Amino acid sequence: MSMQYIVGNWKMNQDLASIKQFFETLKLDDVSCETWIAPQALHIQNLVSLAPNNLHIGGQNIAETAAGAFTGENSGKSLKELGASFCLVGHSERRSLFNEDDDLLNKKVHFALDCGLKVIFCVGETLEERTQGVTESVIKSQLIEGLEGLGPQQIKGENLLIAYEPVWAIGTGEVATPEQAQAVHKFIKNTLVFDLDWRDTRVPLLYGGSVKPSNAEGLLGQKDIDGALVGGASLKSGDFAELASIASGLMNS
Ligand code: PEP
Repeated sequence: MSMQYIVGNWKMNQDLASIKQFFETLKLDDVSCETWIAPQALHIQNLVSLAPNNLHIGGQNIAETAAGAFTGENSGKSLKELGASFCLVGHSERRSLFNEDDDLLNKKVHFALDCGLKVIFCVGETLEERTQGVTESVIKSQLIEGLEGLGPQQIKGENLLIAYEPVWAIGTGEVATPEQAQAVHKFIKNTLVFDLDWRDTRVPLLYGGSVKPSNAEGLLGQKDIDGALVGGASLKSGDFAELASIASGLMNS
């Protein structure tokens, strides 16, 4: 099995005390999968200094341009200076709460890659869209517009990952079944090959939405699922380590 990724999205959670406690109890010695965490940008440097060597730290958001009058935004150069190695782009909370549209997200993906950050580009349908039967067309347009203009040079070396996160499963406790998730992952894979013409470049596909140790094996064991983007469960060091251990076990099986 190819490389699996367990990526924590801490959103606007954790303070210095809980971060210290997380790392005092985190055990990642025996894991062989990739382990990444995206804390609030304000804590990236703290995580970089506390994290074990096999845990990579990233941002949750990035500005689409190098510098200037963008109050409240995160600069790619500063993310790199703090020690970030990757960045989320297009999380559904950025799309819905901060009105980030496909055009802006496309600029952010390009800029983050140009800065030397790996990118996890997030896509997903709302419950209403799933009920209306338009999941595939929604995902396709998020992919085509959000990833427009990227070439093999930029995305090589697993520099680009895609996270399929059905909005109805994020933070709700309601998880997509392994079959539902696999079906969309297969669709994403086909879209990358047949619509974007990315035939020879591996783009790892992560599932996100209420992943926890008790449901991870079924999801991560699917053919086209290469890992998980995890919110709530990634805040607990024991759950995060258990997810990494499940992913590592699947890789080695
Ligand atoms: C997320 O924030 O990307 C996420 C998937 O959250 P949760 O695991 O809590 O559903």
